[in-house]
Amino acid sequence: MSVTVTHRGTAAVEPLEMSRLAVVIVRAGVLPVGAAEAAAEAGGRVLVLGSGTAEAAAELGAPRAWHAETVDAAPAGLSQALVPLLEQVRLLVFPASPDGRDFAPRLAAALGRPLLAYASSASLDDEGVRASLSRLDGRLEIDVRCAEPAVVTLMPGVRSPLPPSNGEVFELVLDVQPGVDAERLAVLEPDPATMDLAESTRVVGGGAGLVAREADDTTARETFDLLKAIAARLGASAGATRVITDAGWMHHDRQIGTTGVTISPDLYLAMGVAGASQHTGGLGAPRHVVSVNTDPSCPMTAMADLGLVTDARALLTELAERLGVSGA
Ligand SMILES: Cc1cc2nc3c(=O)[nH]c(=O)nc-3n(C[C@H](O)[C@H](O)[C@H](O)COP(=O)(O)OP(=O)(O)OC[C@H]3O[C@@H](n4cnc5c(N)ncnc54)[C@H](O)[C@@H]3O)c2cc1C
Repeated sequence: MSVTVTHRGTAAVEPLEMSRLAVVIVRAGVLPVGAAEAAAEAGGRVLVLGSGTAEAAAELGAPRAWHAETVDAAPAGLSQALVPLLEQVRLLVFPASPDGRDFAPRLAAALGRPLLAYASSASLDDEGVRASLSRLDGRLEIDVRCAEPAVVTLMPGVRSPLPPSNGEVFELVLDVQPGVDAERLAVLEPDPATMDLAESTRVVGGGAGLVAREADDTTARETFDLLKAIAARLGASAGATRVITDAGWMHHDRQIGTTGVTISPDLYLAMGVAGASQHTGGLGAPRHVVSVNTDPSCPMTAMADLGLVTDARALLTELAERLGVSGA
């Protein structure tokens, strides 16, 4: 098995002997949620694998990135091909995206290393790898120490990304040998309505401002059915504040916040959401936030990139009409 390394850059290619490295798997150049955070946790060095890796590496803007097109590579062969490249790296950090969660254990097995899954932090010192593992929906943190090199998956929304930089990007060409491997029958896109909210790239969230004070339970349910239908039409997942989930108008797994899910989407559209600290505590690193609220000085609007000071209920109805959706 051979690994051919070419480079398209100005500096000489490093033999990937750094102590920490993030590994990010992309599809058609789309970065998974948590990619930038994993890169930051690994000190700004990242290896991008998958398809459309050059664009994804450029978009990531990490200080140092390597990328390799591995779109047709089956996982067992790919993990074996990566062993000679990565065996010097003591801490490998994957974002806990679906692809990251799938591939990290395979690579850990190929490298003969432990896997520290769903960490909220990971670091390296003279004594080895230290990680904090998040369990029971974030209610339990387990500190672990590992004297040997390790592979870590990092939960999204737990740390800030590094500021973008015009770093160096190198291309790697991996020679992946065919062998006994998993066969890919089909790739099914996740349904935004049911996928894990933490992994959604677009979220439409609803708060108490969507429900009139005098509204009965049936009307409130219909409002949130409409919100879900509009979110689906926009290719987004529906989310809610705790007021809404406590009332039973949306399921608890759709709750954004410190006692709900942490999200880091490209777009968060918050409708009638006040932006209490327990709610915004569940906003990891959203790229764009739009707040629709009648109160221009509410915290949600204050932190938004775009604030629409208007009646969220009327806007929801207007959106439904324009998008041709109904809540039923
Ligand atoms: C221990 C603890 C944990 C918590 N965990 C969470 C959590 O995980 N997630 C969470 O979300 N909350 C959590 N909360 C609750 C949190 O403190 C807030 O009460 C909650 O987030 C407020 O939800 P809201 O914005 O929907 O409602 P409200 O605070 O009632 O705000 C409604 C907003 O809608 C606006 N509004 C009113 N009418 C309209 C209209 N017609 N059009 C547009 N805007 C309108 C108002 O100006 C207001 O800003 C927690 C609380 C505690 C004590």
